[in-house]
Amino acid sequence: MELVTGMVSVTIEGLEHELRPSKIVCLLRTYAAHAKELSNAVPERPRFFLKPPSALLGNGGTVRCPPNVRELHHEVELSVIIGKRGANIPQGSAMEHVKAYTVMLDMTARDLQDEAKAKGLPWTEAKGYDTFAPVGPEAVLAKKYDWRGKRIWLKVNGEVRQDGNTSLMLFPLERIISDISRVMTLEEGDIIMTGTPSGVGRLCPGDLVEAGVEGISPMRVDIA
Ligand code: MG
Repeated sequence: MELVTGMVSVTIEGLEHELRPSKIVCLLRTYAAHAKELSNAVPERPRFFLKPPSALLGNGGTVRCPPNVRELHHEVELSVIIGKRGANIPQGSAMEHVKAYTVMLDMTARDLQDEAKAKGLPWTEAKGYDTFAPVGPEAVLAKKYDWRGKRIWLKVNGEVRQDGNTSLMLFPLERIISDISRVMTLEEGDIIMTGTPSGVGRLCPGDLVEAGVEGISPMRVDIA
């Protein structure tokens, strides 16, 4: 398979910022309406999985649908770039570890995920293909941005598919960061994807996806 990963960057206050996370931590079912649309129960505490950094794709890139995948789904997610290393971070100081916020897509092979769920297997394949983590183009500094109450949306070929608000997240970011850091040390540059609102759906080759979170420049990628 042709290598499609490479240097991925976002713009922070006009300057290119290369992304080199040691890990990408992805929250699941953090919006009740999304949990419901896939017939999943709402979790009692933040639950998460990992995407490999090799899945990153820059804004304007092309998401490659693997030939064995029939149900490639979009999930737009507000994402956090960690600015300060920490483990066992108390909720009260969790926000000190956030450098910036950006827009990402949690691309998902829903058919592979459904199979994994049914067999009790990990989601790694369903979530981890190259190009399955589009990011950018911009990140905004945490000191200039309040993540709460922000519209989060996604369009496919100009049609709105997802239209939610970060105020609908079931857990505050402080709790999410604290809980993750009790399992794994968060390193500078790590990324946390905070989960998707409802409206996820299938993409086809040739589709154009635009997605954004209020106050951050929107991204666009196409599907091949
Ligand atoms: Mg997701």
